[in-house]
Amino acid sequence: MAVRPIVTVPDPVLRKKARKVSTYGPDLQRLIDDMIDTMRQAPGVGLAAPQVGVSQRVIVVEYGEEDPQQAGTGIPKRKVASKLYVVVNPELVRPSQTTETGAEGCLSVPGYAGEVERLTQVTIRGFSRRGTPTRLRARGWLARIFQHELDHLNGVLFTDRASRVWRVEPETEAERV
Ligand code: ZN
Repeated sequence: MAVRPIVTVPDPVLRKKARKVSTYGPDLQRLIDDMIDTMRQAPGVGLAAPQVGVSQRVIVVEYGEEDPQQAGTGIPKRKVASKLYVVVNPELVRPSQTTETGAEGCLSVPGYAGEVERLTQVTIRGFSRRGTPTRLRARGWLARIFQHELDHLNGVLFTDRASRVWRVEPETEAERV
């Protein structure tokens, strides 16, 4: 396992439509392990393979909801146990009709954040790292992260969708994906 360099704009790999994965061999396993290491090291809450320069349809997401008992108390945010998701060849199915607007940032677009409208709830279908069919539902921030990562597989960046983009100091950046 190893941390790989994160590709940033204007690298053309970020603008390519990534290829579907067809074999679940050692190269894929190494790529996934490295993506998890790279996401944690960044730190980020999601990463798509093109962000490490590999144009394949693989995403990893690790996100824990804010502890509801601490929400609004002013106590520094603590996350309940994060859950790790690995999805190969992910597809969006059954999108919700409702959307919400929120701020997001991207490891591949350092120094910027933007306000992006996303579906409130999504169902994602795809395959596990071993090729087993998988399906998951996400809402809120988790749904936003998945939509951001799916966009990366299609060469789309959050700045393409943002109604407004602004500069941020790296240390104040929100959770990046
Ligand atoms: Zn991103």
